Amino acid sequence: MATIIGYLRTDADPRCPISLDSLKKLEKAGYTYLAEDGIADAIGGLEISTVPRSEVLRDAHVIYCSTPLSAEEMSALSGDKVLISFYAPYEEAIDPNHFPSDGVSAYSMDMIPRTTLAQSMDVLSSMASLAGYQAVLLAASKLPRYFPMLMTAAGTIRPANVLVIGAGVAGLQAIATAKRLGARVEAFDVRDAVRDEVQSLGAKFVEVEGATDDIAAGGYAVQQTPEYLRKQKEAIAAAVKKADAVITTAQLRGRPAPTLVTEEMVKTMKPGSVIIDMASSSGGNCECSADTQHVQRHGVHIIGDSQLYLQTLQDASDLLANNIANYASIFLDEEGKLLLNSENEILQKSIVFPQSDSQ
Ligand code: NAD
Repeated sequence: MATIIGYLRTDADPRCPISLDSLKKLEKAGYTYLAEDGIADAIGGLEISTVPRSEVLRDAHVIYCSTPLSAEEMSALSGDKVLISFYAPYEEAIDPNHFPSDGVSAYSMDMIPRTTLAQSMDVLSSMASLAGYQAVLLAASKLPRYFPMLMTAAGTIRPANVLVIGAGVAGLQAIATAKRLGARVEAFDVRDAVRDEVQSLGAKFVEVEGATDDIAAGGYAVQQTPEYLRKQKEAIAAAVKKADAVITTAQLRGRPAPTLVTEEMVKTMKPGSVIIDMASSSGGNCECSADTQHVQRHGVHIIGDSQLYLQTLQDASDLLANNIANYASIFLDEEGKLLLNSENEILQKSIVFPQSDSQ
């Protein structure tokens, strides 16, 4: 009997976690699937067979749901189940009492390591990439100015200055998109390692000396010294003042986002300028931003949105579906039987229940 993967829908996430391509991958790995009624409602046009939620919960061996199951559903589970979700254990420690002790294991896709091997399963990267693109389109549409240089008989329009703060996955995509639209782009990141990538996209890297770069942090940014923060503030203030559009993406996993664009800096911007704060859900990089809000302060449009990938819902769904299918494939052996290989590094890093003593 093939292993069954079940997909549950949730009101909290309109993305469809299943696609025709992902079904092919799953079939190749040895899965059949069950999907909850309504799972593709938000994207439309995906013709797959679906079943009631209770059937997925009862019959699937591996169950994906973007949000963790409720305590009630959890206690009603019977038999061996592998749960896949986003548990964000770096925000709140996992409560082992949430899981029935027998036969259930849980894996968190936000704990998949940022390694080359795991790249095809990395939902955070997939979404960051879409969001970075979308942030630039949003900035361009709000700015009462043109992005590229334009020479007309009536005069020359100079290109817009775009500043991207944080050159991770989202920031690099924002840089590439803003360049394609013809803007002049500057970018800043505490990780000096991204300088070459920024420059190879044709953007100028804003230099601040003395950053602490911690390789042991697995590629994530680490807290910086007060001296560095002072120099950084000056460099960012100068770059913000020049910018027509600022896109901020800087995050510190499990901690509030650093405040990088202060109200004083906002005051120095030209009226009609735009700030897109993509770190708004964890406190924001701009002092004046509010999550999911569009506010105007000192004549500047400030938009806080950490889920801009939802604006490209079809692509967000397709990438999510592929990421899940690639991840679920490593739960099976070559014959398609469930084998939770405790030697597998990706599984080791992403399991949240049961926790081993070393976690
Ligand atoms: P993130 O969303 O955690 O942060 C975005 C960027 O903000 C990062 O580049 C970070 O350095 C920067 N930042 C943090 N604090 C800052 C500050 N005070 N000032 C300026 N910038 C600041 O990052 P992410 O996009 O998820 O990527 C994290 C790292 O993982 C990156 O090195 C990325 O290249 C790497 N990565 C590797 C893989 C892979 O190899 N599979 C996949 C994804 C990401």
